[in-house]
Amino acid sequence: MSVLAKRLQFGWSTPLDPKTGMAGLPPNLADREERTMNWISNYVRPKLKSILKRKEVPEHLWTTCPECAAMLNHRSIDRALYVCPECDHHMAIPPRKRFDHLFDNQIYELVDVPLPREDPLHFRDSKRYPDRLREARKTTKEHEAMLVAIGNIGKTRMVVAAQDFRFMAGSMGIFVGNAIVAACKLCRKEDMPLILFATAGGARMQEGILSLMQMPRTTVAVQSLAEAGLPYIVVLTHPTTGGVTASFAMLGDIHMAEPGALIGFAGPRVIEQTIKEQLPEGFQRAEHLLKNGMLDMVVHRAKIRERIISIVRMLSGLPPPIRGSITYRQRKLPAPVDSAGL
Ligand SMILES: [Zn+2]
Repeated sequence: MSVLAKRLQFGWSTPLDPKTGMAGLPPNLADREERTMNWISNYVRPKLKSILKRKEVPEHLWTTCPECAAMLNHRSIDRALYVCPECDHHMAIPPRKRFDHLFDNQIYELVDVPLPREDPLHFRDSKRYPDRLREARKTTKEHEAMLVAIGNIGKTRMVVAAQDFRFMAGSMGIFVGNAIVAACKLCRKEDMPLILFATAGGARMQEGILSLMQMPRTTVAVQSLAEAGLPYIVVLTHPTTGGVTASFAMLGDIHMAEPGALIGFAGPRVIEQTIKEQLPEGFQRAEHLLKNGMLDMVVHRAKIRERIISIVRMLSGLPPPIRGSITYRQRKLPAPVDSAGL
């Protein structure tokens, strides 16, 4: 029987020796022991519990920066446009958040994209393709890896398409192809520029050859904008690789990139193994590509909106933007050229 149990049984009036369990412990020592126990149970234990409890922060409130591993609160990241305040790493931003930042007063309209037949190849790797789609829809709350929106940016009507890296790494399947074709058609119909935010791991392997066919298809679609004399601006974000880089993402009139974005076709490891040479530091990063003439500019996420307004106004023959009020005047062009086969 423990000393405490004996105390509970016999009370403090008959002090017990802690070693022998016999009565005889001086009353003042017994008091001290009682005070110690109270201090442990009333103060130390709750304090320890509260410290442990504090570590169990709900996951949905915090996220970790993939670059510097800083713990970041969701609300603060949201305010900072998903740019890490510690190391300035530009994290993947959901398209709707991007639209909120870009469009005047956060007002825009989502453009309907024709839905393709799902899982045309009945593809299965470690999981069934429909199961992967279901999972991605549940986590992102989006139907697919690209959203298209129309609205005013700096009082100029524009169509914006944004890829969602959270949705199966933003991979280009038939839906993404449909989204780009729909965006280009709308631009031609409404005589508007297209702004495209690219981010992807490449083509969607679960759709095999059908995903690769989106490369020429989107190329023809963006070419139709050039034929109609409409600006097409591409913003390359981290990371843009594979078939996306090899098609619509590298065919803009202006190529802008976010700082530190990885842009390339094959990954650096594959290149090193193929050419058997060490690649320079910062290879395939936005700054390196800018230095080597592959990009026109590297722009911080917070400044992209301003830069897009300036470029579109310049390319549309409008006067430069002035803070305050901008005179709204949409350029009138002859009837848009209808591109065959789209
Ligand atoms: Zn960071």
